[in-house]
Amino acid sequence: MDETQWYCAKCNEKMTKKKIPTIFMGKIGFEEGYFCPRCKTRFFSEDVVQRSIAAKEVDAEGKLQ
Ligand SMILES: [Zn+2]
Repeated sequence: MDETQWYCAKCNEKMTKKKIPTIFMGKIGFEEGYFCPRCKTRFFSEDVVQRSIAAKEVDAEGKLQ
């Protein structure tokens, strides 16, 4: 219900809500998060962060770096 609009801290771009690849317990999954189309920053809501080690280990296409 509460649709918060997030903005990228770096470039002040509106962030897009999307499924973002994460790693949790060694498995790749998808969590809903926010994505900056300009600088590719990904942001997760707090409950997702607590469950996932996420994001910096996986690039935007879901490939391991
Ligand atoms: Zn950005």
